[in-house]
Amino acid sequence: MNEQANNQVAIVTGASRGIGAAVAKRLAQDGFTVVVNYAGSAQAAEAVVNEIVAAGGKAISAQADVSKAADARRLFDAAEQVYGGVDVLVNNAGIMNLATVAEFKDDEFDRLFDVNVKGSFNTMREAAKRLRHGGRVINFSSSVVGLLQPSYGPYAATKAAIEAATVVLARELRGRQISVNAVAPGPTATDLFLTGKSDELVDRLARLAPLERLGTPDDIAAAVAFLAGPDGAWINGQVLRANGGII
Ligand code: NDP
Repeated sequence: MNEQANNQVAIVTGASRGIGAAVAKRLAQDGFTVVVNYAGSAQAAEAVVNEIVAAGGKAISAQADVSKAADARRLFDAAEQVYGGVDVLVNNAGIMNLATVAEFKDDEFDRLFDVNVKGSFNTMREAAKRLRHGGRVINFSSSVVGLLQPSYGPYAATKAAIEAATVVLARELRGRQISVNAVAPGPTATDLFLTGKSDELVDRLARLAPLERLGTPDDIAAAVAFLAGPDGAWINGQVLRANGGII
């Protein structure tokens, strides 16, 4: 199943479930050696690793809460110790909670920024110091940065921060042949999107895009694989909205 090994090592954060799990499997299929990061779901991460290995790929799981700087360092340490270096960082780990500006709760706001912004910065800092020449960073934004619906304020703000940081880091890495881009999915069928929504709401949101369905984790993994692989080599400092045309 996996293409010829390309000798490149990819860390995928939040790869135990949802989009991250699909990205890990797709990159392994494309020949990358994959570090499957998770925060709490050890069994699910191990299942992703087992699936990759059973298909002829190479992977390990690695626990790290990316919102903690020491954990982010430990994640890169683990990848370097086992595989000798890191070429690709996919900064997929993220959480979502929705609240109007009038109603947001301090602890939820802090956790959102800790995981989505600080978490991505913690791993970007390691990547900026440690990625091998020619590497790739693929961050995760969201199409809500374009849609800007009520109740998405704090979450959209975390993702707007990621879009800004993506371009800044692309410029800071001049001279190392490392590209930095972001993928911005639209509504995608995962726990993060589906939890707490009625079937009617999911159906309505699914039909907003001209392609009239939800994205699948594999749709998003394909966009990441493009940016991580040879065909994405000339893309740098960009945000790729993968959303069926919703915005
Ligand atoms: P899920 O909730 O399905 O999965 C989230 C993953 O992130 C899990 O593997 C989880 O690990 C991990 N994670 C959460 N917090 C941390 C942390 N502190 N450190 C390490 N890993 C962590 O989310 P999705 O797959 O839907 O989302 C993936 C990314 O895509 C996110 O950045 C999200 O914002 C973005 N996105 C999603 C959209 C959607 O509609 N689904 C739309 C636009 C953007 P564990 O299982 O161990 O908790």
